[in-house]
Amino acid sequence: MIKQVPKLDPLQKQTLSNTLNKQKYSILDRLAKECLTHGKCIHCESERLRKYGKSNDRQRFYCNDCSKTFVCTRGSAYFYQHKSDDWQKYLEFMLNRDSIRLCAKKIGISVVTSFNWRHRYLNATENTYETHLDGIVEADETYFRESKKGERKLGRPARKRGTKANTRGLNKTDWVAVLTALDRNHHEYDHVLKQVTSTEINNCLGDKISDESILCTDGQPAYNQICAEHHLHHIVLKNSRCKDGIFHIQNINNYHSQLKQWVLKMHGVASKYLPKYLGWFRMLAWHKYQSFTDDKINKSEKLFEFKLLQIQQHNF
Ligand SMILES: [Zn+2]
Repeated sequence: MIKQVPKLDPLQKQTLSNTLNKQKYSILDRLAKECLTHGKCIHCESERLRKYGKSNDRQRFYCNDCSKTFVCTRGSAYFYQHKSDDWQKYLEFMLNRDSIRLCAKKIGISVVTSFNWRHRYLNATENTYETHLDGIVEADETYFRESKKGERKLGRPARKRGTKANTRGLNKTDWVAVLTALDRNHHEYDHVLKQVTSTEINNCLGDKISDESILCTDGQPAYNQICAEHHLHHIVLKNSRCKDGIFHIQNINNYHSQLKQWVLKMHGVASKYLPKYLGWFRMLAWHKYQSFTDDKINKSEKLFEFKLLQIQQHNF
């Protein structure tokens, strides 16, 4: 096999290299490595850990301070998950934007298991928004029709799923508003708003945007308070116009339209899960941006770098 390598063309060599790298970093290997380099004892937070054999293929660690042990999956989205090869495949399928049902079919698990796995990943991404936006920041709200998908008692006649939110209904309870802010370094923040008011926008965004940044919006009056309080330079842009060649809200408009298409492709998302799906979409968008800047890194590698595995989720 090694003798054959020089005969391969550059693309084949790249594919071979990607495949070998992928093999090297299975999820369990990656978690064990993560624990050893950055890990803290889950009992006492000590960093003095050492390897302590394996349990069911998972690396076990021993804490030199409190003398307790734990496995590498403890505290991650993978705790209590048994089929480690399948999780990795599941993640790839999710990145391909496959539905819960399709993922279940491809892996050979039940729809309920597929739902649970999906929500483990979603839980891990929910709170991964940026907390620091800077420079030129675009902000806007977008609306999703309230969805009670999956709920048994609707309290209203059923609607055809995934109806597009072209017009805003008069009844506010039918719509869920999502506030999104994006700076030019692709730092993205979003939040489901209870109401579109000055106070709520200020509470959400006030501590995320650096003072004296430039805020570009469509002129919604609810942004005036945050601009005054945080000394933001407010640029109002109507009808997708561009001012001085750099001030516009086109990035955020693109982000919203891609988000809407994605939600439509999922046949709608239940409103109660919307924050989780916003997190997942944020990660997809971030990944897409990263793959433009560094094409060598394959999808799942990049996701791990997004610290998916480091997000500690103790309360499953
Ligand atoms: Zn300890």
